[in-house]
Amino acid sequence: MSELTRRGILIGGLALAANVVRPVFAQALAGTRSLAFENLHTGEKLHVEYWSGGTYVPDALGAVNRILRDFRTGDVYPIEPTLLDVLDTVRAKLGTVSPIQVISGYRSPATNTKLHDASSGVAANSLHMRGMAIDIRIAGQALPTVRAAALSLRAGGVGYYPRSDFVHVDVGRVRTW
Ligand SMILES: [Zn+2]
Repeated sequence: MSELTRRGILIGGLALAANVVRPVFAQALAGTRSLAFENLHTGEKLHVEYWSGGTYVPDALGAVNRILRDFRTGDVYPIEPTLLDVLDTVRAKLGTVSPIQVISGYRSPATNTKLHDASSGVAANSLHMRGMAIDIRIAGQALPTVRAAALSLRAGGVGYYPRSDFVHVDVGRVRTW
């Protein structure tokens, strides 16, 4: 084996090792996920790192549950963490760190029944009652753009409510309306 060939193999081996190691390293570096919320009913704001070190951060999830509570009754309910990943990904796709403006997060059964009776746009068996849905807009982002970003994920349901100026996003079955 010539010296040149041997060097080629050595360099090739190092490159391979670097390729094996790099994704793990990159994952560790990119191992935090953050979200910012602004509740349009209560005026509350929250900025949290809700994922860190390979796991969801319990205190952060607690803070998210509070800001997304049923503001009419005060009921707090655990929000499905994968819904947060959807919102994080939507913001990333849009290239924005603007807060998610919240029109409706968790809804207690009592609140949902009241809203359902008053509006044909509210499902009787809404995923809002299971902490799996949120109605949002994002400051500085056109509503159709937010809708398109959410649709592109195919992560659950996406409802478009231009007259009320919000997009419904949930982590139920993939549906569009
Ligand atoms: Zn909704």
